[in-house]
Amino acid sequence: MSEEKNVEVGGGGLKCDYCDYKDDSVSIEELGKHINRKCPTCGENLLTLEDWMNVQKLLAAADFINSLTPEQMAMLPKDPTADPNKRVKVTYNTHKTISVDKIEPIDEELS
Ligand SMILES: [Zn+2]
Repeated sequence: MSEEKNVEVGGGGLKCDYCDYKDDSVSIEELGKHINRKCPTCGENLLTLEDWMNVQKLLAAADFINSLTPEQMAMLPKDPTADPNKRVKVTYNTHKTISVDKIEPIDEELS
């Protein structure tokens, strides 16, 4: 985990929005194999095509940001992710629309 990245897309895993079912064994790269998978508990769709496309957009955005140099990062609009000296962890939802739950600094001292 010592790789230098500006942002890290964490997570993966599938969870049901209607009951408590979740499967954390699915990595974010493998989500595409699980499109339209049914929840074994309640039968809901765990990952619609739209959900998956949101994940792809998010990964693409993260790749883009990670391709930036610190100098380029400093040129981005002022927001918590734009400080080249700070790494942040972004928690997000990808169901239906992409929404950011929270952005928190990663404390490098603790790792
Ligand atoms: Zn369910």
